[in-house]
Amino acid sequence: MSGAEPRPGLRDVAPYISPQLGAAARLNTNECPHPLPEDVALEMAEAIRELPLHRYPDGQLRRLRDELAALHGHRADGTWAANGSNEVLTQLLQAYGGPGRRALTFEPTYLLHRRICWLTNTELVGGELGDGFLLGSDQVEHAAAAAPDVVFVCSPNNPTGNAQPVDAIGALAAALPSSLVVVDEAYGEFSPRTTALPLLATQPNVAVVRTFSKAFALAGARIGYVLTAPSVVEDLQRVRLPYHLSALAQTAGIVALRHRREASDVLAAIAGQRDRLLRELDAIDGVTVYPSDANFVLFVPPGDPATVWQGLLDRGVLVRDMTAVVPGALRVTAGAEHEVDLFLKALGEVLVR
Ligand code: PMP
Repeated sequence: MSGAEPRPGLRDVAPYISPQLGAAARLNTNECPHPLPEDVALEMAEAIRELPLHRYPDGQLRRLRDELAALHGHRADGTWAANGSNEVLTQLLQAYGGPGRRALTFEPTYLLHRRICWLTNTELVGGELGDGFLLGSDQVEHAAAAAPDVVFVCSPNNPTGNAQPVDAIGALAAALPSSLVVVDEAYGEFSPRTTALPLLATQPNVAVVRTFSKAFALAGARIGYVLTAPSVVEDLQRVRLPYHLSALAQTAGIVALRHRREASDVLAAIAGQRDRLLRELDAIDGVTVYPSDANFVLFVPPGDPATVWQGLLDRGVLVRDMTAVVPGALRVTAGAEHEVDLFLKALGEVLVR
């Protein structure tokens, strides 16, 4: 045991762990169930082989930012990327949160938002979503009264699955013109009609955060990005580490963007499995299932959720225990068809026991 004293309170905090257990169907972390097509993987490998890896990468990520900006019809100087959207969120809090500053989350939502507040010494201001886990005028009023420096909105929301009304996000941004409204759209590609991206034209205090980890089948490459006002990107430049995003990740992102059309076929297949999960779970007696605009479904099984979770794992299906966030709830990712088959069969067996 080292005698070195860590930051006060550090040892009261458990590491963030999502179990990576060997299971036939890993439906616990909302990744894309399909690997990159072989030709895309080869093109990526070729592009990476040609990199001058003895040199530092482009610290300004110019090419990747240009391509992302073109994809969204946004300005390159208002576009920024980092190692997964978790790092983008951390950089946003390093720049807009910090000691003496406050951030608001609407619970239940993605646990990392709260964790990044702790990490950056940002005081957390509690808020709650309304009925149906929705953001509405009550939440806007609550936020306006609390006047935090940063507000998080997750849409589609993890773990509940529902997208938030863009009007409400716009009202939030309008009510808090000197706060940064961070819209975490990690699952945005699954719900294209409810994106907050159009708000960027009128609300310079909105930052829309996205990722390559879900729809782009690149969770292993760790690439996330943000679309926002150029002044926000300038502030992120002040907190980023030098050369924070490797040449490998930048190149992987650029190649993946070239093949985004193939990626949209995969999205349709995943949405199909999500809808199937919604229908099949709804048809099971005693199961409560929540609507989803994402690539996962939250449900409350009858009986003890821990027993159901273990029963599924015993049958080769790993889902996420969300009981700490939504009482009694488990979350299942919309996987490949055979994985969803396995899940439904296993759940049927566990529930009749
Ligand atoms: N936001 C939300 C809502 C998520 O669910 C996740 C992944 N679980 C992330 C951000 C982080 O994704 P990544 O760091 O892989 O981009």
